[in-house]
Amino acid sequence: MNLVLLGYPGSGKGTQAKILSGKFSLFHISTGDIFREAIAAKTQIGVEVSGYLSAGRLVPDKLVLEVIKTRLAKETRGLLFDGFPRTVDQAQGLDDYFASRGQCIDAVVFLDVDEESVVGRLGSRRTCSKCLKIYNLLTSPPAKEGLCDSCGAKLMLREDDNPDVIRRRIGVYKDQTEPLAAYYKGLGNFYPVKGGQDPEIVAAEIAAVLKNNVK
Ligand code: AMP
Repeated sequence: MNLVLLGYPGSGKGTQAKILSGKFSLFHISTGDIFREAIAAKTQIGVEVSGYLSAGRLVPDKLVLEVIKTRLAKETRGLLFDGFPRTVDQAQGLDDYFASRGQCIDAVVFLDVDEESVVGRLGSRRTCSKCLKIYNLLTSPPAKEGLCDSCGAKLMLREDDNPDVIRRRIGVYKDQTEPLAAYYKGLGNFYPVKGGQDPEIVAAEIAAVLKNNVK
């Protein structure tokens, strides 16, 4: 099974990807995490993409598709995409790539959350600096302030989770990513799920959608 999680920044894609990849033994691919790791390691790709991430703009499609293809070359497990595709060109690139491997995307799950709640969620999001576990200071805070429950490392505020960049990312989403909903509806594999609820409830609803629709 190959899945795509679609939704506003802050709609819960990362949290759901972690739960669902465990539940269905899927390989979780977050292009955002790949880019942040590359920036931290100061690789050539990291240097190339750093300005886009800090400004909240999209990395060019060609580079994103190259990174994805390199990652997937030897991967035989089912895939769960989180934060990719983000443009119609990326979606078409992914379809072509899957077609060349005799595969397809089985479901695109859209996490439906309204714009204002996304702004609040991103502002109160904290991420573990080591294992990348995601917290929300209002709805799912860590047991010990500032520290990850799972690995004890420090929690951090992502550089692009500040008010100006959050607004830019939301604008970018509306202009460039929202058209993907129509693209996937046209392909007949688009499934909206109400986001913004308890993550376990959202995950259970997604699991039910997959059970009923994916053979
Ligand atoms: P995310 O962690 O998914 O919110 O992504 C963080 C940032 O990484 C985005 O604001 C973009 O700058 C960049 N990025 C991640 N995925 C993509 C993608 N599929 N296409 C272009 N840029 C991306």
